[in-house]
Amino acid sequence: MQAPHKEHLYKLLVIGDLGVGKTSIIKRYVHQNFSSHYRATIGVDFALKVLHWDPETVVRLQLWDIAGQERFGNMTRVYYREAMGAFVVFDVTRPATFEAVTKWKSDLDSKLTLPNGKPVSAVLLANKCDQGKDVLMNNGLKMDQFCKEHGFVGWFETSAK
Ligand code: GDP
Ligand code: MG
Repeated sequence: MQAPHKEHLYKLLVIGDLGVGKTSIIKRYVHQNFSSHYRATIGVDFALKVLHWDPETVVRLQLWDIAGQERFGNMTRVYYREAMGAFVVFDVTRPATFEAVTKWKSDLDSKLTLPNGKPVSAVLLANKCDQGKDVLMNNGLKMDQFCKEHGFVGWFETSAK
């Protein structure tokens, strides 16, 4: 006899400035690979990560990648619609991309609220930590403080490489 089967589908956004590694993070997580070949695609792309959460539960994460639209500044409401969470990514080697994080967060919060009226959960990703230039990362306490002040649920250092 088959066990009861629960399926959940969550739309997650991956946002941040051009070149911070959004596409690379998604590729690494979903396809376990990395390419240093730079290719800025145009349009919206998404990848599906299937998690066998427990024997009865399948979780499907639909990771939305903004491809090439970063340069136009504001994302549209249509893109954010019905997302359950977001990753805001910056590049630890480029301080300007960290400064843009608050811009991305407020763009998100101004266009999207959950059905319960709360802002969508957002996690901050400090990408390219393999580069060793952790100018911004030298103080974990500061990052915790930053997350509190700007409404991020937490932050992680990541490397898609
Ligand atoms: P996007 O514009 O935010 O989607 O950024 P991409 O994923 O296209 O990455 C931009 C460039 O940074 C590419 O050349 C990637 O190979 C490189 N890159 C992305 N993530 C990392 C990382 O974690 N470490 C290093 N060293 N390079 C990365
Ligand atoms: Mg990209």
